[in-house]
This record gives sequence, structure tokens and C-alpha cells, in this order.
Amino acid sequence: MEFDDILKGLQDAKDYTVHRAEEIGAHAKTAWNIQSEKVKLSRTFREIGKYTLRSNQSGEDNIDKIAELCGEANDICKKLLALELSQGNGENKTVHCPFCSATAEYGSEKCEKCGAPLPVLDTEDRG
Ligand SMILES: [Zn+2]
Repeated sequence: MEFDDILKGLQDAKDYTVHRAEEIGAHAKTAWNIQSEKVKLSRTFREIGKYTLRSNQSGEDNIDKIAELCGEANDICKKLLALELSQGNGENKTVHCPFCSATAEYGSEKCEKCGAPLPVLDTEDRG
């Protein structure tokens, strides 16, 4: 083996390592974003529950607040879906139900496990 070949081999190995590190970094960032959206979603669900309970117990009128929180939850669900789809480079059509975490085929109307309606992205949501 020529010295140049060795250098070339090392350069290729370095390029490959850098490329893989970038890929892993991007993947980890998406995974982290998914995790933080999930935390936001469960916080929003708790808030919806809190206001619903208060309406029920004390007759407080929280309908506007609840509607606002539902809108936020819906936005988070869509964001989660976009992140999940981007993780599979557009090839992965399996997503997770934002309500029970069951896997679902992207585009299904309802979750097979819990029956919740699954969000579908409008073209402008795909970014
Ligand atoms: Zn579900």
C-alpha cells in the first residue's frame, strides 16, 4: 500500500466519522425536541383537566380557557407529528398517537388503541 493510499483511507474514515456524527447529532436533536413537545403536551392536558374539573365542581365558566388550551394541544400534536415524520427522512410513515403513544400508520383517522382522532398535517405545517 502506498503512503498516499493510507492518507486517502484516513481522510475517508475521518469524513465518514464527521458525517455520522452530524447525522447522530441531528437525530438526537429531533429526539430531544420530540421529548420536550411531549412534556409540553402533557402539561397542556393537565391544564385542560384542571379547568374542566373546576368548571364541573364550582360552575366556573372556563369554556374559553379550555378551548384555547385545546387549540394549543392540537398545535403541539401537529408539531410532534412533523418531528416524527422528519426523523424518518420522509420514508417513515409510522407515527405515535399523542394520547396513548401507540404506533399508528400516518394518515389513519383514528388511533386503533384508544380511538383518539390522529392529527394529519396540512401542507403548510410540514415546513
Ligand atoms: Zn391512542
